[in-house]
Amino acid sequence: MAERADLTVGVDIGGSKIAAAVVDADGLVRARADRTTPARTTAPVVVEETIADAVAELCAGHAVVAVGIGAAGFVDASGTRVMFAPHLSWRDEPLGERLQHRLGLPVVVDNDANAALWAEHRFGAARGADDVVLITLGTGIGGSILVAGHRYRGHGGMAGEFGHTRVVPDGRPCECGRTGCWEQYCSGKALARFAREAGRDLAGPEITAAARAGDIVGQGAFAEIGRWLGVGLANIVAGLDPELIVVGGGVSAAGDLLLAPARRALAETLVAAEHREVPALRIAALGADAGMIGAADLARAGC
Ligand SMILES: [Zn+2]
Repeated sequence: MAERADLTVGVDIGGSKIAAAVVDADGLVRARADRTTPARTTAPVVVEETIADAVAELCAGHAVVAVGIGAAGFVDASGTRVMFAPHLSWRDEPLGERLQHRLGLPVVVDNDANAALWAEHRFGAARGADDVVLITLGTGIGGSILVAGHRYRGHGGMAGEFGHTRVVPDGRPCECGRTGCWEQYCSGKALARFAREAGRDLAGPEITAAARAGDIVGQGAFAEIGRWLGVGLANIVAGLDPELIVVGGGVSAAGDLLLAPARRALAETLVAAEHREVPALRIAALGADAGMIGAADLARAGC
C-alpha cells in the first residue's frame, strides 16, 4: 500500500470531459472527480477554474503532493505551456504556471498521448519495455514515443503526431487540408466509412459488436483498417525500431480483429522483415484511465 505522501492527482483534459483522480504510487485510482469540458469559445480562465475546482474537491479528502495534467493538444518541450488545444481556446497558454499558483502545488503538463504511454509503461501493457510506440485509434490517430525509457517529446514538444503522415499520394482529402493522411485510412472514422461503403451504416462500437458476432461486413471493415494500421506502422518501425507497439483508443476494443491483419501487413510491408525482429503489437491495458494515471505518475516523478 502506498504512503499517504505518495498520492498525486492526474487530470485528463479531453474534448468533452475533464477527468481527475487521486492516484497512488502503484497506479491505482483512489478517488475520482469529473467535470464537463467548457466549450471551445470559453475564456481560458474558465477552463482553468474548472480544473482547479475538480482538483480542490479531490485534495479535500486526500493528502495530495503534486498534480499532473494530460491535455489533448500541443504542449511545449518544457512541459509548462499548451501551445494549441483543438477543443479549447488555449493558444500558447501558460497552464502549468497558472495552476501551480492557484493550487499551491507543483504542476506538470504533457499531452494526453504522452501521459497515456507513460501509464502503459509504468503499470500496463508496456511494463518492462523501454523502446515503445503508442498509437491511439479514436476519431483520428494519436501517438507517443518512448526511447530508452524516456518520453521522446521532440525539439518543440510535438513528436508522435503520426496521424497526418501521408500513406497514399493524392489519396482521400483530410480535415488538415492535405490528402492521403494515415488517419483517413486507419481510425474510428475510417472504420465507419469502410462499413458504410459495404452497405452497413453503423457507429464504431456497433461495428465492433457486429464483427465479433461474425458479421462479414464488420470483419471486412476491421480487416481494412487493420491492414492500414500495419502499413503505417511499417513506416514508424523503419524509423524508430521499437521493441513493442501498444495500440489504444476506442477502436482497439476490437482486439485481434484489428491486430491480426495489422501484424500481417506490418510483416509484409516492413523493410527487411525476414532479417529482423518485427516488434510485437499489443492492445493497451489501462483504457480510458491511461492519460489520468500517467499524468499523476509524471507529477510524482516531478517531470
Ligand atoms: Zn491530415
